[in-house]
Amino acid sequence: MRLVLLGPPGAGKGTQASLLSDALKIPHISTGDLFRRNISEGTDLGKQAQEYMDAGQLVPTEVTANMVRDRLNQDDAKNGFLLDGFPRTIEQADLLQKMLDNDGEKLDAVINYVVSEDVVVERMLARGRNDDNEDTIRTRLEVYRNETAPLIDHYQNVLLNIDAEGTVEDISAATLDALDR
Ligand code: ADP
Repeated sequence: MRLVLLGPPGAGKGTQASLLSDALKIPHISTGDLFRRNISEGTDLGKQAQEYMDAGQLVPTEVTANMVRDRLNQDDAKNGFLLDGFPRTIEQADLLQKMLDNDGEKLDAVINYVVSEDVVVERMLARGRNDDNEDTIRTRLEVYRNETAPLIDHYQNVLLNIDAEGTVEDISAATLDALDR
């Protein structure tokens, strides 16, 4: 299965993605995780990404899309994947479409985790990652509203809306249920 996870920062996409990845036996590909690994390993890619991430801004599309393309070309992603954090803009969605078209593939579903801003701010402050301070959170929510939320309409034909304010287990069960139908 080829899936994309959508939702605001702090919606719990990463948590749900690891559960879904186990249940569906497809690799979890998180652009945020890939960037963070590159930063901790001190790679050129990490150096290019860091200032943007620290500011809560999007890393330039070319850098991000090249990284995703490389990852999707690895063997374990040939038969399916779970993309978490990409695409984040219409431009990125168009690039993803091109990558899929190239291989004669398509997305099976886009899972949209629906959660209020109050809840995501609370969750991010509790999580306390490097980029989880109040200024950066505000910027990321703004970027989400302006750049990423339009993807909900863009993917309307394959969209599955999931209420993401319950427990981790309930949300995971609801996702698998929606994929089954
Ligand atoms: P969250 O879900 O809390 O937003 P992520 O780990 O998905 O956290 O992303 C952290 C940061 O990584 C983003 O704020 C952004 O700087 C960068 N990033 C992740 N994915 C992308 C992307 N598709 N395009 C550009 N930047 C990205």
